[in-house]
Amino acid sequence: ADPVVLVTGGAGFVGSHACKALAAAGYRPVVYDDLSNGTRDAVRWGPIEVGDICDGQRLAEVVSRHRPVAALHFAARIDAAESTRHPARYYSTNVTGTRSLLQALRSSGVDVLVFSSTAAVYGDAATAPISEAHPLRPATPYGRSKLMMEDAVREASASHGLRYCGFRFFNAAGADPDGELREDHEPETHLIPRLLRTALAQHGSMSIYGTDYDTPDGTCVRDYVHVSDIADAHVLALRHLLAGKDDLIANLGSGRGYSVREVIAAVEETVGRPIPIREAARRTGDPAMLVADPTLAQRCLNWSSRRSSLEQIIADAARAFAAVDTGRERPRRERVSHRR
Ligand code: UDP
Repeated sequence: ADPVVLVTGGAGFVGSHACKALAAAGYRPVVYDDLSNGTRDAVRWGPIEVGDICDGQRLAEVVSRHRPVAALHFAARIDAAESTRHPARYYSTNVTGTRSLLQALRSSGVDVLVFSSTAAVYGDAATAPISEAHPLRPATPYGRSKLMMEDAVREASASHGLRYCGFRFFNAAGADPDGELREDHEPETHLIPRLLRTALAQHGSMSIYGTDYDTPDGTCVRDYVHVSDIADAHVLALRHLLAGKDDLIANLGSGRGYSVREVIAAVEETVGRPIPIREAARRTGDPAMLVADPTLAQRCLNWSSRRSSLEQIIADAARAFAAVDTGRERPRRERVSHRR
């Protein structure tokens, strides 16, 4: 039988793509997800156990039943702007949730963990590109909760030998090149899917959040990295740790930055029509510029961001959206009452 890997948040955007990559690499993903921001339809490569990441008892039971060789931990809240309005939610799901996972893994003797951190741990970065040695000064409760997750994992490693790899994601985007999965958040806050929705709906307009940043065209610059490249990094990290190699916290980005206006122009080019734009105020918690130095992941894991050209990211995301638009396979969203 294929070795089992527990995937928390495996019904979500990055987690579901990681499950596909795991299955292709000969692992059997067992998803643990509360379906608060993911869909059951995205769970295709193994079973799902529905549960809250903070429910330590349920997690421990799932871990002891499935006997995973490792865990990939994606389950988290991810909206930086929301975190400034509801910080407690972020410390609870992200930090308390990670602690409950660490406890469950330890009680079953699972000692390999790959987990998701974020470029938001750097805050308003003084340089671009940003290496892992850059000072960590998160500007939002979201970024701080992720930094606390990194600390909790590092402490678990020091105190009882957990082996780990943490990835600081820059802007995860795109969709499965085979069209089996897509980004499907509700509400959607991310730039590229919002642009595609506006373009395909052919009504409404898009807001640019801030045009007075200290950047070449006044709009924020971000590093967009293809979700399937991120998924591949997780398989590489898993093999790296299972082979007994060193713990690692590494950036996952393409190393190239694009402004909001550049992304808009690229989406317009792909869909072949102009998108109505409004210039709006800055969104709380948005740094001016976040661009990765991805050399650590390249060097230690032999990772490459081979699909992360902006053109391919937008083309793959647009293809997934077109499938939704024509009503094919529209995923039904389940509501979890305690979350919304
Ligand atoms: N953005 C925007 N309009 C939108 C959504 C996002 O101008 O409707 C901007 C946002 O301010 C940021 C960039 O696009 O500078 C990327 O935002 P996203 O939410 O996709 O990712 P984040 O960088 O917050 O992780």
